[in-house]
Amino acid sequence: MTQDLKADAKPGQQDFPDVELADVIDVPALQEMMDDYYALTGIGVGIIDLKGNVLIGTGWQDICVKFHRAVPESCVFCRQSDTSLSTDVPSGTFKEYRCKNNMWDISTPIMLGDRHIGNIFLGQFLYEDEEPDYELFRAQAKRFGYDETEYLAALDQVPRWSRETVRKAMSFYAKLARMISKAGYNNIILAEALARSERAEEELRFTRISVETASDALFWVDAEGRFVDVNEAACRTLGYSREALLQLRVPDVNPSFNDDTWPDHFAELRQCGTLTFENELTRQDGRVFPVEIVANYVKLNDRELNCSFVRNISERKRVEKKLWLLNHVFYSSIAAKSIAGLDGVITEANDAFLNTWGFHSKDEVVGRPIAYFFNDPDDAADILCALNKTGRWEGEFSAKRGDGSGFIAYGLATQVRDRDGQMIAYQSACMDITEQKRNAAELAQAKEAAEAANQAKSEFLANISHEIRTPITGIMGMAQLLELTELSTDQKQYLEAIQLSSDNLLNLINDLLDLSKIEAGKIELERTAFSLRGSINDLLRTQISQIHAKGLTIRTDIPAGIPDHLTGDQLRLKQILLNLVSNAIKFTDKGGIDISVALEERQHDTALLRFSVADTGIGIKPKVLAKIFEPFTQADTSTTRNFGGTGLGLAICTRLVDLMGGSINVTSTEGVGSTFQVVIPFAVNDLQIERQENKEVLQSLAWEGPPLNILLAEDHEVNRKLFVLLLQQAGHTLETAANGREAVGKWEKNNFDIILMDVQMPETDGIEATRTIREREMETEGHIPIIALTAHALREDQENFLGQGFDGYVSKPLNLTALKEQMRHCLKRKV
Ligand code: ADP
Repeated sequence: MTQDLKADAKPGQQDFPDVELADVIDVPALQEMMDDYYALTGIGVGIIDLKGNVLIGTGWQDICVKFHRAVPESCVFCRQSDTSLSTDVPSGTFKEYRCKNNMWDISTPIMLGDRHIGNIFLGQFLYEDEEPDYELFRAQAKRFGYDETEYLAALDQVPRWSRETVRKAMSFYAKLARMISKAGYNNIILAEALARSERAEEELRFTRISVETASDALFWVDAEGRFVDVNEAACRTLGYSREALLQLRVPDVNPSFNDDTWPDHFAELRQCGTLTFENELTRQDGRVFPVEIVANYVKLNDRELNCSFVRNISERKRVEKKLWLLNHVFYSSIAAKSIAGLDGVITEANDAFLNTWGFHSKDEVVGRPIAYFFNDPDDAADILCALNKTGRWEGEFSAKRGDGSGFIAYGLATQVRDRDGQMIAYQSACMDITEQKRNAAELAQAKEAAEAANQAKSEFLANISHEIRTPITGIMGMAQLLELTELSTDQKQYLEAIQLSSDNLLNLINDLLDLSKIEAGKIELERTAFSLRGSINDLLRTQISQIHAKGLTIRTDIPAGIPDHLTGDQLRLKQILLNLVSNAIKFTDKGGIDISVALEERQHDTALLRFSVADTGIGIKPKVLAKIFEPFTQADTSTTRNFGGTGLGLAICTRLVDLMGGSINVTSTEGVGSTFQVVIPFAVNDLQIERQENKEVLQSLAWEGPPLNILLAEDHEVNRKLFVLLLQQAGHTLETAANGREAVGKWEKNNFDIILMDVQMPETDGIEATRTIREREMETEGHIPIIALTAHALREDQENFLGQGFDGYVSKPLNLTALKEQMRHCLKRKV
């Protein structure tokens, strides 16, 4: 018997597979209600889920609890009843089943949507129109081992309902089942909806937080370009408050849009859905920065919107620029650059590399081993080895171009390491230096040639000076001798001319030698103590007669505050000043010459002195003035004719002043006069130096002591004669030798006071002769003074002689005072 209540079932209902009966009913409340119902009607009930769990039960019969279900064999029948009533009972209907224990059970299903989740049972009763078959029940008691009396007593307790009562009760239960179904389903749906809405709300919250905390700026913009909504990042990026920003439109912050272009942009967006582009935005403070914009077209409730994500790409741009620059530096470098992997295979090369190695495209280079680009692959292996060991290699190597031709390259290679210090590649920069190598070789050759030429020039100069000096010595000596003879007035004039010319010639030779020596850097300055005032007086003494002869005045001004005791190269100072003074005399006909010394600067033991030589002479033309310190500069040819001179004096002065750490300058007005100024530093002495008396300098060869027995060794006949005559004039006795060997012979035979020994002589020269004499003297323990007569004007040459056994030296042409001085000096030392 079934009753159709299906009208309420709705098609396509949702299924909730995890929901069970216990989840949709309020078990205690329903139990209480059904207890009340039982108390009222005496009709019990069982509500049981599909797993057999009894959730609610009332009016349990003893026959059921104590007998049928208590004994396993009879309980099997109860289960069969449960199963039969639980399956295939359509929703809203009920089914009755006479169980194998001979009682009635009825059930109606509880559904959840379309799914069967439990049943309401009415069970273990008898219809009142049926008489119980006691024989049958007795047999049952016997079969299942029940106590017959108790069993039959329980049977009498079993309710007996009319069929009408059962139908009504079942109709009630079917409705109850339907109510539970419906309420349960609705509850679930509601709970589900609630959960969904909670989830949605949560999602919304998450979305909002994400949007607000996003680093990208988010703009909602309407079709008119107005900002409808913005996130926190948008405000931060543009430097506006949210309120302020919502008052603005796109053109206010993006200069690339205006009222003309915005509608076009929006139309394009509507068509494409999404647009990604780079642009620039202007901050509130006016700063403009680059951005990347991803604009999305969104339609919300018929409202068209542009939802744009905007990212500040300043950093990206900066990195891009830097990367571009680095790339550029690599690819457009003039050095041939390449990168190779740790396997020694090229992975990158720049244009210069392709050009240098004669390739047209990178493909021809990339992928080849480094060794391919070397003449000798072993070189490449050595370089890689060095790179692995020391991290760096630099040097020349023999390279090979794509066409097989060779060239010399200079390269620098290093390891490339990543941030963790892991070696990841090699890099190198190379250059073709074939041309430079060739040039350097040519240059070296040229330099060698130039040095050889210079050497030849020096030698030539030294030789020619010697060659010229010797005849001049003759000329000058003879002139000196001639002067001692009776001469007519004409003859005296001729003689003067000879003396003047040879003087000039000698000066020229001396100047030339001096200049070439300075230019060759062969001059070494002396450091000796001297008196400033004494030096200037000495200098003037040599010039005073000429000054007087020209009728000029002379004035010296050395203020008391100028230190007198100095250390430096006195001779060079004198040479410079003598040059200036003699020029002043030479170029001045009336008026006078002023010599003054001023203290330019004083630091405790050095004094910077300014020497001025001013004249009232012819002055110097501006054109000449500009190059007056260059060699061979003279005002004009007529000057040379009128005044003589070599044009070397000032050039020598300039170089000497330079060498002494000073400076020289001139001011001059044509026709008025010139002033030369020299500034030179000197060390200032605390100790008093001996005042030099120069009386003897002016005296002749006159000998104060007893006459001497002199041996003169000189190969040049004229000179020999000259010396003999001069020295005999002074009262000495002379013996001569024409070479060194002869000199040694004569020394051995005679007892001389002193030997004057020419250095350069044929056969045995003066140096060798002197050495022989000194060796032989070792046995006799004697020591004869020997003075070297030398044409060598070079000071260090002269000093050399002292180390070679000579006691003194005099340079030729002979200066009689110097010779006498040397003789006195050597004889004094002997004593
Ligand atoms: P020189 O041996 O010819 O005098 P210098 O180098 O000493 O060589 O001088 C170069 C030239 O400078 C001189 O020839 C002369 O024309 C000019 N000069 C030098 N000093 C003076 C001066 N005090 N007054 C006029 N001219 C001078």
